[in-house]
Amino acid sequence: MPAANSKRRSSAPRSTHSSIHQWCREMSDVVHPTLIIGSGPAGYTAAIYTARANLRPLLLKGMQPGGQLTITTDVENYPGFPEGVLGPELMESFEKQAARFDTTILPEAATKVDLSSRPFTIETNLEHTFRCATVIISTGASANYLGLENETKLQGRGVSACATCDGFFFKDKDICIVGGGDSACEEATFLTKYASKVHMLVRRDEFRASKIMAERALGNPKIEVQWNTEVRDVHDPAAGKVTGLTLYNNKTGKTFEQATDGFFLAIGHTPNTQLFKDALRTDASGYLITKPDSTATSIPGVFACGDCQDHVYRQAVTAAGTGCMAALEAERFLEGAD
Ligand code: NDP
Repeated sequence: MPAANSKRRSSAPRSTHSSIHQWCREMSDVVHPTLIIGSGPAGYTAAIYTARANLRPLLLKGMQPGGQLTITTDVENYPGFPEGVLGPELMESFEKQAARFDTTILPEAATKVDLSSRPFTIETNLEHTFRCATVIISTGASANYLGLENETKLQGRGVSACATCDGFFFKDKDICIVGGGDSACEEATFLTKYASKVHMLVRRDEFRASKIMAERALGNPKIEVQWNTEVRDVHDPAAGKVTGLTLYNNKTGKTFEQATDGFFLAIGHTPNTQLFKDALRTDASGYLITKPDSTATSIPGVFACGDCQDHVYRQAVTAAGTGCMAALEAERFLEGAD
């Protein structure tokens, strides 16, 4: 394979857009040892580790810089922060730590990848082309939302797609959760640790969830399932928090208001892997498949970490863990490459 970093590159300028653009243009014939796509906990951790291994990583921040934590408020389950930390602040710290070592962080997104031969080629939305010996994919996943206007306005103010992250803030409160799959049953059950009452809003008259998970939810005295129920609106942006929902019963045809303190979504996640679907092996839901106990994908030299390959744990700390794994595996791969 071509030598990594065959033309020694200078560090990217941190000044103006035009000088960064010029630098990127000059870099088009350089083979970067490692290019990281995505800037959540997985991507930045991969950057910190590869940078400290002198691999001078290039990191493309992507369309949602900082990833899913930038749309949450307090993060209380990330170790090392006994008082908790704001999601956006945590991600700023990740970025600073990656930049402190020799990571070049670029505010652009990969739009096209050619992984058919090495060096790999990555094109971006700013019309830059980068070549690299290894790629670490950390593009994350996005929680599915219903697409209601007020749902977006009240995100982090009572609307949440992560019960593990935000359940704690609903001690003795009334909560609604939409969805009828395993995630909804698991998260509703989890939320009963805090909430006084959890209403599961299920659009059909049956769960999609496995029998065991469904039975656990149905057997929980704090959970009330509202079948055939669709969410039409979330209130109240003027109050700056969730105060209630407009619901529709698709069996009776009735629309009604229901007061609540929190609105959780558990209607699935979509991994951000569209870009790779023709090149890499994915499962039926689009998650990148990696080898057991590894971040190696179906193409040697391409590694995947964080929520784009993990549909089970989906936590910032596990994403950071797999980011570390990807970095170490990329380093080993480069050592063994001829
Ligand atoms: P699923 O796709 O399994 O379920 C999604 C649920 O959300 C369904 O009940 C679906 O309804 C409902 N839904 C989807 N869109 C809407 C909408 N617009 N309005 C209202 N309801 C909607 O996703 P999950 O995240 O629950 O699970 C994903 C995968 O992860 C599954 O394979 C699951 O088994 C697995 N998992 C396993 C767990 C475990 O074993 N511990 C825990 C969590 C997940 P409908 O049925 O009508 O389509």
